[in-house]
Amino acid sequence: MHAQLLTEPSLDAADPAVAELIEGEIARQSETICLIPSENHVSRAVLEAMGSVFTNKYSEGYPGRRYYEGQQLVDRLEPLAVERAKALFGVEHANVQPYSGSPANLATYLAYAEPGDTIMGMALPMGGHLTHGWSVSATGRWFRAVRYDVRRETGRVDLDDVRELARRERPRLIFCGGTAIPRTIEFEGFAEIAREVGAVLVADIAHLAGLIAGGVHPSPVGRADVISTTTHKTLRGPRGAMLMCGVEHAEALDRAVFPGLQGGPHNHTTAAIAVALEEARRPQFADYAARTVANAKALAGNLTDRGFDLVSGGTDNHLLLVDLTSKDVPGKRAAQALDRAGITTNHNTVPFDPRPPFDPSGIRMGTPAATTRGMGEAEMELICGWIDDGIEAAKRADEAAIQRIAERVREVAAEFPIPGIAA
Ligand SMILES: *Cc1c(COP(=O)(O)O)cnc(C)c1O
Repeated sequence: MHAQLLTEPSLDAADPAVAELIEGEIARQSETICLIPSENHVSRAVLEAMGSVFTNKYSEGYPGRRYYEGQQLVDRLEPLAVERAKALFGVEHANVQPYSGSPANLATYLAYAEPGDTIMGMALPMGGHLTHGWSVSATGRWFRAVRYDVRRETGRVDLDDVRELARRERPRLIFCGGTAIPRTIEFEGFAEIAREVGAVLVADIAHLAGLIAGGVHPSPVGRADVISTTTHKTLRGPRGAMLMCGVEHAEALDRAVFPGLQGGPHNHTTAAIAVALEEARRPQFADYAARTVANAKALAGNLTDRGFDLVSGGTDNHLLLVDLTSKDVPGKRAAQALDRAGITTNHNTVPFDPRPPFDPSGIRMGTPAATTRGMGEAEMELICGWIDDGIEAAKRADEAAIQRIAERVREVAAEFPIPGIAA
């Protein structure tokens, strides 16, 4: 750390209340296994960049066109992040300023639609995201949102349904991608439909960015008009987002982000995004992406062998959606029991869920975080056993059995320290 910081009290001394919570969170993450597919463990380098003095700096505008002075370093930092994003994904233009995935998506509405215009996205309970026009979101209230679903028989999107809906509704914007889609997104098919109806296609790769960078999921580049992504999921960077596009869309998107929607960019986040993009360029990252998918397939296979129903029957990527209907236990109760057993997941709706969204039939899990820790297929088999036993224990209300699983999880987790923290 920098010399002048050492003359000041450390966080421990300055604010023991917050320091204790951070220590506790380090212990929680270390002693449990995170299977939440939108979470990951960032490197120490990413954490350091996040915790840097760039958080002190205002930089409204873009490099070379700012509304504040003192941009000598920020105006080198932001282009560095932008160049790395362009190189990693092979795009002509990147904007690294969106505060997170939701505002990044809102910027695409601001760039291409007027309030009341028709927009189209996958329904939230089918695996889409709130910001793709779901009713409770601003995007569903300010725009006329129409939704596509998955097919009941397959659990998958059928492009014929999407095409029919697009022809009928003529949306301005079409979103593809989502938060709980275990299958490959057919960017080319969506692009053909968008072209046919004159819509702007937004590929929301928030979940998939790391898999795309690592070469284990097809890329939307050259297919989607706009690519929106978070930087903190499979891409393994700080909480943030990026918009990427061809040069023809650059100005509209940049103006939508600033001054359309946001004020000053979070420069400390930009620094950490730059670090994460450099990490994602390395061959080890491609290996990480491949292992993440292999682990998800292994977990899916193990769960299927133990009689769990997976939406769409399995996975092509880093996540799986388990329908617990046949196990006769609701998703929330299962997820809470697994949390007590040291395995962190989230309850999730399954397509055509008869249960309400706050207490749905499914749980969603994924392997990005566990794979970052170095866990492999052997651990996936152990984890699957603990999930099965944990859910059965929850059904019997056998808290002692749940605590025994938590103890085993702690032992195995200790063999796989999380990156980014001092041991
Ligand atoms: C996570 C996610 C977002 C939103 O990101 P936040 O950073 O939570 O706002 C948007 N779209 C998709 C598909 C996501 O998975």
